[in-house]
This record gives sequence, structure tokens and C-alpha cells, in this order.
Amino acid sequence: MKKALILGGGIAGLTVANSLALRGIDFLLIEKSTRVGGAIRTFSRDGFIAEGGPQTFIAEEKKVFDFLRATGILEKTIEARPAAKKRFIVRGGKPRVVPMSPATAVTTPLFSLLGKIRLLAEPFIPAKRDGNAESVANFVRRRIGKEMYNYALNPLVAGIFAGNPETLDVRFAFPKVWNLEQRYGSLIRGTFPNAKAKKASGNYEKKRTLSFPQGMETLPKLLRAKLDPRKVRIHSEITNLTREGSGWRAHWRSRAAVCTFFEEDAFFDEIIVATPPHTWGEIPFSDPALRAHFSRVPALATPPVTMLTLGFPRANVSHPLDGFGMLVPEKENRKILGTLFTSSLFPGRAPEGFVTLSTYLGGSRQSEITHLSAEEQLKIVREELRELLGATGEPAFIERVENPQAIPQYNLGYEDFFKKLSEIESAFPLRFAGNFRGGISVGQTMLSALETAEKTALAAHS
Ligand SMILES: Cc1cc2nc3c(=O)[nH]c(=O)nc-3n(C[C@H](O)[C@H](O)[C@H](O)COP(=O)(O)OP(=O)(O)OC[C@H]3O[C@@H](n4cnc5c(N)ncnc54)[C@H](O)[C@@H]3O)c2cc1C
Repeated sequence: MKKALILGGGIAGLTVANSLALRGIDFLLIEKSTRVGGAIRTFSRDGFIAEGGPQTFIAEEKKVFDFLRATGILEKTIEARPAAKKRFIVRGGKPRVVPMSPATAVTTPLFSLLGKIRLLAEPFIPAKRDGNAESVANFVRRRIGKEMYNYALNPLVAGIFAGNPETLDVRFAFPKVWNLEQRYGSLIRGTFPNAKAKKASGNYEKKRTLSFPQGMETLPKLLRAKLDPRKVRIHSEITNLTREGSGWRAHWRSRAAVCTFFEEDAFFDEIIVATPPHTWGEIPFSDPALRAHFSRVPALATPPVTMLTLGFPRANVSHPLDGFGMLVPEKENRKILGTLFTSSLFPGRAPEGFVTLSTYLGGSRQSEITHLSAEEQLKIVREELRELLGATGEPAFIERVENPQAIPQYNLGYEDFFKKLSEIESAFPLRFAGNFRGGISVGQTMLSALETAEKTALAAHS
């Protein structure tokens, strides 16, 4: 029987652990903090529910659905209300509806006539197929024009990556969009054949935007509850990792009580690193060759994001909040990245007669705002919500969650990071799983963790 050591109990580590457990492969998961879930954190108080990290997760890959079914989790999810399909982008100081049909695309005030004509010229723009790196901003400006970049892509990147479109590499940050140009020569011309090919592949199900009645943290809690408790060690850390034969000897210590640790060691055939890249320097590998490999892995930028959720009496917000939320383009020169209408997304996020609004601050665009005091941040958000959504009066609920190193950025140069991970994986019995490869969303992280677990399973049976 082979055994894997999983470092990190975020969604990546928990997904690997459950996938291995479902295949009957032995493992031990070591989580440094006192809880599992990593970035996925939910706070409940006085009838309000607020997320500190992801608000929802999107499932569309069959592998992810199969996993959610096999673990019994899918039946516990709730789906975002249909109204959440409507999204807003701020232009001229007002949230404008993002057009979702050709008819609304023609009439929308979000884009000018020139911007719309430029978009329609996209199929005639020659494809760039040299395979070289290109920033998301350049790619989008080149294909669909400056205005679409400013008022569609720029806010979207703030909403997904909290990142900078001028530095994100389109090949890694938005591989599906980049592939449309590579395969079909045009995003517009590629949309329908691509959707057809996607359907025919059998790898996808109907896309669903999900959460749980008690919030996103239910996901890691359920995944942990599925595992043998003896195989999950929280508040624990590796003290030494040494090569032994074809595998590893790991020593770790777990906190038993205040100031009391117990130490253990065991042999593992493989290590799965599911901790964020900025923590890799802490892993006590004793092998000098492996340490040298890790020292050559380029650092990824991880800008900070603060989530501020405010609850207001419904009557104190004049906007109908009839959608997912609003994103703010950089051009608008405001102090927030965007706000989700969280109580409109799922039921039970606020008591009867109240609403919640969750605002993102910081990211690459305005990281300095995350260093302001809580009072200053609250003032900024209240002012922005008053101007943009007509939210007035004292908030009845405030939850502020700091994410000092929120989301790894797949910036230009990421290719080297990606290659270095592959080199380590082929030279050592070690694999990686996490949001630093294959996409940063919860769904993408789960998918890449499932693929990592598949490789471990293949190696275990070989
Ligand atoms: C503010 C914010 C909003 C987001 N919004 C969304 C959203 O709406 N939708 C969406 O799909 N995604 C969203 N994401 C992204 C998504 O939540 C993350 O990419 C994903 O949860 C990361 O999972 P992970 O397991 O790779 O890493 P993490 O969640 O960071 O987990 C890593 C774990 O490793 C542990 N660890 C660290 N060092 C060690 C060590 N030395 N030994 C052992 N354990 C260690 C940590 O304590 C942590 O538990 C958001 C992220 C943030 C921060």
C-alpha cells in the first residue's frame, strides 16, 4: 500500500485527500493552522452570513461534479438565484447592466457606438499565433478594442484575479479565451464551434454557480468530515523531510495543548505540496538538490484583498440589487474593486428586511487601501456604496476580512514558474496542487487537485 503526505488543508489539499481516500490510497494531511479551508472562510453573526474569501464556486467540469457526487456534497449545495445572472459594471458613476443578448448589446449605454463597431470587427483582426507571452490587456485591446478593454475586461480581471491586466499573461490567466484565437483565429468566430466541441467532449455538465445554506466554508468542513480523523492533522507542521529510498521520511509535530507538542514520523512514497508558493521556503526539505530546485522557482505576486461585508436595512438601499454585483473599471477612478449583492445571490445571507453587500478592496490596483485602518476602509466603502447604490445610514452588520496574500498572479514570466514545477515533479516523488496552477477559482483548483490525485493513484498502482 502506497502512502502520500499532503501538505496544506485548503480546498486543494482536501480535494486530493478525498480523491485518494475514494481510491483506497493511504495519506496523511498536515495543516498548519487550526482549521481547514484556507482562503474559504465564512463568518455568521446575528442572522448575517459573510464570506472572507470566495462567495460562490462554479462547477462545470464533469470530474468536479463526479467528485461532488461521490462525496455526497453536491446534494448539500444551493444554486445562485437566477437573477444573479444579471451583472453590473460601473460607468460614469452608475452601475450599468452588462448586456447578455445581442439585442441588449446594441442598446446598452455601457459601450459607445464606436466601441460596439470595433467589437464587431473582431473576426477580421488577424490572429497572433507566435506562441509568445502577451498581457491580457494587450490581447483584449488588440482583438476587441480599447473601450471593451476599459469597460469589460479591466473590471472583470479585478473581479477574478484582483490583478493587473497589463501584467497577467493571457495564455495562463485566460487559456480558454486565448485558445479561441489559436484554434479559430477569432473569439467571435470561435464561440459557437468551441461550445459545440465542449459539449461533444463529454467533459462538461451544465455550469452551476454554487454555495451552501451556511456559506462556502461548509465545503471544506464537509470534505474534512469525510476523512478518517486520524489522517488529518491540523495545527501541525513538518519539522523535517528527508529522502529515504524511493520516498520520504517525514517528521512533524502537532500541538496537543497550549505549549505542548507531540512529535511523530513516518515513511511516505510521495509528497503533495498544496500550500501557497509564498510558504514553500518554510518546508524543511533536507535534500540540497531539491532545495536548489525550489530556490529557482520564481516568486508569484499575491496582492492583498480585504473583503468588507456590510448589512443594511433593505429600505436604506435604493438600488434594486437585482443581480450578482457590480465591478468597477480602473478608468472610473474609484476606491473599490467591486461589490457583490450577496444577499441577492443566495437565501439566508441576511435577516428578513436586511441586505448584505460584500466589497473588495485592494488587489494590484489599490493595494495601499488594504493598509488603511479599519475605520478608514469602512468610511471609503460606505461613501462608495452611498454614491453607487444609494446605501445610507449606519450598517447593521460589519465583517471585515483581510487576505494579505490573496490570489497568485499568473503574470508575464509565469511560464518559468510553471516549467520549474514540472521539473521538480519529474525529478522527485513530489507533486503540486493548488490555485497557483490551472486556474485560481475554487472549481479550477478542485479540478487540478483531482488531476494531481489521479497521477498519484496511477503511480501508486504502477
Ligand atoms: C478574497 C478572495 C476572494 C475569492 N473569491 C473567489 C470566488 O468568488 N470564487 C472562486 O471560485 N474563487 C475565489 N477565490 C479563490 C479561491 O478561494 C482560492 O484560489 C482557493 O480557495 C485556494 O485554495 P488552495 O487550497 O490552493 O489554497 P489555500 O486556500 O491558500 O490553502 C492552503 C492551505 O495551506 C496551509 N498551509 C500554509 N503553509 C503550510 C505549511 N507549511 N504546512 C501545512 N499547511 C500549510 C494554509 O493554512 C491553508 O489552509 C477567492 C480568493 C480570495 C482570497
